[in-house]
Amino acid sequence: MKLLEEKILAEGKAVNENILKVDSFINHQVDPMLMEQLGAELASHFKDSGVTKVVTIESSGIAPALMTAKALGVPMIILKKEPSKVLNENLFQTVVTSYTKGTSYELTLSQDFISEADHVLIIDDFLANGEAATGAIRLLHKANATIAGLGVLIEKSFQPGRQKLEAQGIDVYALARIARLEKDLIEFY
Ligand code: 5GP
Repeated sequence: MKLLEEKILAEGKAVNENILKVDSFINHQVDPMLMEQLGAELASHFKDSGVTKVVTIESSGIAPALMTAKALGVPMIILKKEPSKVLNENLFQTVVTSYTKGTSYELTLSQDFISEADHVLIIDDFLANGEAATGAIRLLHKANATIAGLGVLIEKSFQPGRQKLEAQGIDVYALARIARLEKDLIEFY
């Protein structure tokens, strides 16, 4: 999507060959007008997929997921990263390793909000190694829900996330696909 690519070139910063910083419009400050357009584009790609709920992972997926859910007219659910302090039998949980932080977290979903009747679209800010998305899929499968697809704002195509997810039969749609990053250089696919 040209709009997002232009914004990335104008304001994004390649920290090194692996990490793109987009703190001025996605990860720290959020550009709501841009986000609304990105959400509309993600929704348009999946509009005939029978999506009943949009699911995202806190925190940076929330803005695009909310805009996508609004455009599709369905609820949005945030998967929590905080481990449950209280033993609660109404939770699905799975451990995910964070790519950027090098740490693990316990992804949590309440059984109250997803069921076998749901066909779920997963939305996130970045697709890198596919660990976050794979964790979300594991959780949704525990709830016996089916997956409509994965929509992300930015895919780093030189990392294996897309391959891993497509191998599981997931429809992956990215608004911007980055082929190469180097310090101060961003190249699209
Ligand atoms: P994955 O699980 O696909 O390896 O990584 C996806 C998650 O890691 C995203 O939700 C995002 O928060 C974070 N992430 C991965 N790569 C980048 C990056 O280059 N820049 C930023 N800002 N976040 C990233």
